[in-house]
Amino acid sequence: MVVGGWDLGDAVRVAEPEQVDVVVVGLGVGGEEVAGRLAEAGLSVVGIERNLVGGECPYWGCIPSKMMIRAANALAEARRVDGLAGTAQVRPDWAPVAKRIREEATDTWNDRVAVERFTGRGGRFVRGSGRLEGPGRVRVGDQVFQARYGVVLGTGTRPAVPPIDGLAGTPYWTNREAIEVEELPESLLVLGGGAIGLELSQVFARFGVRVTVVEAMDRVLAVEEPEASEVAAAALRADGVEIHTGVRAERVDHDGERFTLRGAGGVEFTGERLLVVTGRRAHLDELGLDTVGVDASQRYLPVDDRMQVTDGLWAVGDVTGEGAFTHVAMYQAAIVIADLLDRARHARAGADPSGTASVVGGAMGAASALSASGSSGSAGTVPRADYRALPRVTFTDPEVGAVGLTEEQARARGINVQVGFSKLADSTRGWIHRVGDEGFIKVVADADQGVLIGATSVGPAGGEVLSGLVVAVHGAVPVSQLRHMIYAYPTFHRAIEAALGNLH
Ligand SMILES: Cc1cc2nc3c(=O)[nH]c(=O)nc-3n(C[C@H](O)[C@H](O)[C@H](O)COP(=O)(O)OP(=O)(O)OC[C@H]3O[C@@H](n4cnc5c(N)ncnc54)[C@H](O)[C@@H]3O)c2cc1C
Repeated sequence: MVVGGWDLGDAVRVAEPEQVDVVVVGLGVGGEEVAGRLAEAGLSVVGIERNLVGGECPYWGCIPSKMMIRAANALAEARRVDGLAGTAQVRPDWAPVAKRIREEATDTWNDRVAVERFTGRGGRFVRGSGRLEGPGRVRVGDQVFQARYGVVLGTGTRPAVPPIDGLAGTPYWTNREAIEVEELPESLLVLGGGAIGLELSQVFARFGVRVTVVEAMDRVLAVEEPEASEVAAAALRADGVEIHTGVRAERVDHDGERFTLRGAGGVEFTGERLLVVTGRRAHLDELGLDTVGVDASQRYLPVDDRMQVTDGLWAVGDVTGEGAFTHVAMYQAAIVIADLLDRARHARAGADPSGTASVVGGAMGAASALSASGSSGSAGTVPRADYRALPRVTFTDPEVGAVGLTEEQARARGINVQVGFSKLADSTRGWIHRVGDEGFIKVVADADQGVLIGATSVGPAGGEVLSGLVVAVHGAVPVSQLRHMIYAYPTFHRAIEAALGNLH
């Protein structure tokens, strides 16, 4: 039937699936890496993204927030001149920060460059929402793709907004509005005292915003060591941030100009803006998981140690619930790439594609072997995910870096725990540093194994100092060896030696 030049018969015809090698749904940090690297290796890859290629990290997450932090820390350092090096007058101005985020970080929230980066690697880009329609099959709009080797879900998370009376329908901020802000409010209520809440609170406070943090748990940064929570809270308070812990928010009102947040017990806070940073949620119900026999009512998508959800379906990044960090997404992406190339190589060689046989020298080896010779190469194995030494850094000032288990987590596992602690201010470098030297090193050891299983590094360079501790946990380096290393003088990381020295 033809109406006004349109063939309606075509419009309603069920699309024939198009055969490709791999379909990647969601091109955030993890998905873009998988799709780009597989395309570079010579596979036919369709990458589907409904918003911006690159995902949360470059546009509303890590990168712009760290630009904000860099600027706020410059203000804080200038304010530390008094008493150390003379006097300094500081007049904060948000305009250069907003400009840098707009122009350098996000290209005014435009992903043209990222799309070209992906297509330049040989990938085929489709803008839209992808949804599974059975094993290996993905629909996006009226296009349907059938993947020969597999489908990868890298669909990430969105802010989890709690069901507080009155909140829905108010113009509250999530991280997105906070990152996009061009003019700062006079006051800001921050609901949530986790890493993102604290980072943004300190930034805005340092630019002169009156910030109030409201946290339901009995301490901020509740997933980290209690000593880290104390130092972070004290640092923010010194920047003028009001922190209220143990307050469960019950109601939010907005009168057109100001927010009022009411907590259990009748406490009440007001602010011009309200930032809700109470965690993130995967939206599995949108992905058609029922068509491949996967339960979509779960909080995250469980994966095995090769990132497989089920045969022929992989997941990568925040959606897996293994740690909402860009470095986790990248780490997992390398595993997915190696595993998928292994499958493709076996399939092309006519071998059993579902076997757990060897790959060609890891991801890069397999990638080059596939593109160079189609299917051969030297033997290797698909790496397996191991999160024992997962590092995490909260970029407050001081930074809170941590790896592995906290003392409480280790004790809860019945491990024979030893703990060592040293304050940064007691180290030579801390003493020299003077103002802004708050921090510590805490190490958690498995006394039976004689190795570190967790550590926390808080300080002006807490995230950088953490790296040595990550190596120690990852490599299960014996504590006896760590004690007999040479630590450069006078560095902040010499506090590690001091903490190891008082393990008990
Ligand atoms: C304020 C803030 C600061 C952060 N700072 C840091 C930091 O300093 N260090 C760090 O390591 N991490 C940080 N993170 C976390 C980091 O941003 C995430 O861990 C990372 O972005 C996860 O990548 P991902 O690929 O899993 O998902 P995302 O980046 O969330 O990307 C998922 C993509 O999938 C798309 N998508 C979803 N569903 C579909 C669909 N059905 N079809 C098509 N497309 C779909 C989405 O549009 C999105 O672009 C921060 C996060 C925030 C919010």
